[in-house]
Formats: sequence, C-alpha cells, structure tokens
Amino acid sequence: MPETKSRIFSGIQPSGELHIGNYLGAIKNWVGLQDQYECFFCIVDLHAITQPFEASEMPARIFDVALTLLAAGIDPDKCTLFVQSDVPEHSELAWVFTSVTPLGELERMTQYKDKAARQESVLTGLLMYPVLQAADILLYHAHLVPVGEDQVQHIELTREIARKWNARYGEYFPEPEALVGPVRRVLGLDGQAKMSKSLGNTIGLLESPEEIWEKIRVALTDPQRKRRKDPGNPNVCNVFSLHRHFSSADDVAWAEQGCVSAAIGCIDCKRRLAGNIVKELEPIRVRAAELRSEPEYVFEVLAAGAERCRAIAGRTMGEVRDRMGLRVSALPAAGKHD
Ligand code: SF4
Repeated sequence: MPETKSRIFSGIQPSGELHIGNYLGAIKNWVGLQDQYECFFCIVDLHAITQPFEASEMPARIFDVALTLLAAGIDPDKCTLFVQSDVPEHSELAWVFTSVTPLGELERMTQYKDKAARQESVLTGLLMYPVLQAADILLYHAHLVPVGEDQVQHIELTREIARKWNARYGEYFPEPEALVGPVRRVLGLDGQAKMSKSLGNTIGLLESPEEIWEKIRVALTDPQRKRRKDPGNPNVCNVFSLHRHFSSADDVAWAEQGCVSAAIGCIDCKRRLAGNIVKELEPIRVRAAELRSEPEYVFEVLAAGAERCRAIAGRTMGEVRDRMGLRVSALPAAGKHD
C-alpha cells in the first residue's frame, strides 16, 4: 500500500432509482476502489440539469441515489460522498475553464452530438457538460477517473483543458487518466440499447424479487430460438450476458450447455438468473430499507462530505484566483488607502 494513495474522482447522476447497469458499470467497481484509493464520489446534480427535469422531484432523486450508494457498500469511513451543488467551486472552476476551452473541441464531443441531434433546441449546458466535468475532476487534483467507455473522450478533453490552463498560468493541475472498469456496456432487458432508466429497460437495484422476476420473465432472448426444442445461441442472448455478471461459473456453464443442447427452456434459464440477481441484490435492498428509516444518517454523510470537499475546493480556487490575477488585494497599494 503506497503511503499517499492516488486520488480518484467519479460522479453519478441523481436519476432517483439506480439500476443494475449502474451497479455493474460503476458502483460495484467503486466499492472495491475505495479500499485502494482516496476516493471522491459525487452526485452530480449540476450535470443532471442539462436535461429536462422537475425541480420538485430533484431532492428525492438526490437522496435516493445517496441512500442506494450507501446501501450498496459505499462507505463514508473510506471515501468522501457528496452532492456537487453543495460545493459552489465546481461551477466557478468550470467558468474559469471556459476561458481556455475552444468551442470546436466541445462541438466534436460524441455524446454532445448524439444528444443534440435528438433535440430541437440545444441548450448551452449540454455543450458545456464536459467543461464542468473537467472542473469536477481537477478541483480535487484527481489522478484517476473511473468511467464507462463512452466517457473516455471527456477525460481526454479534461487533460487538454489542464494542459492549456497550465501552459498559461503555470503547472498546477495534473492530467488525469481514465480508469475504464471491467464491465464495458450493460444492455437493457430489450437486448437492444444500453440499460437506461429513460428507455424503461432496467432492473432497479431496490426492486422486489417479484418485480425482478416479472421483468426478466419477458426479457428478450435469442430471437432465433422460437420453440423449447430448438437449440439456442447464448452469445446473442442478453439473458446469458446477465448470467455472466450475476451467476456462478457452474450456473453459467449450465445455461450455456442447456441452451445449445436445448436441454433447458428459456424460462428455466431466466428463473435461475432471477434467483441469482435477487440473491446478490438482497443485502442492498435490506440495508436501503434500514437507511430509509434513518434519513438523518444519509444527510449527515452528505453534509460531512460537502464540508471536506469545500475545504479542498476552496484551496484550489484560491490558487487559481492568485495565478489568474483575480485578486485586486494583491496590488501592493491595497490596504494603504486610509
Ligand atoms: Fe437465452 Fe437462456 Fe434462452 Fe439460451 S436458454 S436463449 S441463454 S434465455
């Protein structure tokens, strides 16, 4: 174990109900990382407002994400968990970074182009999203950023922003590296698109065993396997992909063999998968119910996280202001006017 741990920053949107795609793609990884690194995990509400949202629903969305993260094993004794808007320096540094970020770099971001193409009127916040992301990361001098593959381009831009700012105002910000997790892409139950709450193809982390079974029961399988006696192809079946994430090696082998030999039907296969998912998620569901009955604890964790982050962020912005000359009191004549 190194004496000074490398620092990690990662964010998650306050979508309210987290799902197994979030769990496999980020949260499970975070729980392991908090033992090896100094981790800052942030509920990025300022990023969430770049999409349409209901203000009246936002507090519950933030709370539910915090509660679920804690229930899933994010441990405030090992890491810092906080809400982005509780630390105003995120927005301030993002604005500072706009002064070194070329417009063309933002316009070529794949995620921006994808989202903008689906909107009639594109808001500036969507374009600025990666600049705020750079501020999130660099405010804490993070060395590593756990992300999905679709975010790697944004981390490259963060590095470029750090380089451009350092070139102008002196070496200060590190160039962070993307840490792409072991699970690259989790498909939704429709087997078509990435699992996403907005597409309605998810299994929520806190759903009951009955709800989980109802969703898996109708999940898409190998479309060529029309009858029970037909052999199937597990490699084109998303139910089988989920077995790989949630089932033991024995169960994965059982599903694979049973499928290609038509020894099992899809319902048998799905029942086994549903049982394994329920088994893995049960402790999270139980802990979440306990936390819901003690909401003060969740608020305390977030308040302590915000306090720690404000101290660090304040020091960073102090240095940034000094280097950029944003401090009239630095003039020798300051304070001598009386
Ligand atoms: Fe998919 Fe399992 Fe059906 Fe094969 S048996 S097609 S792996 S659900």
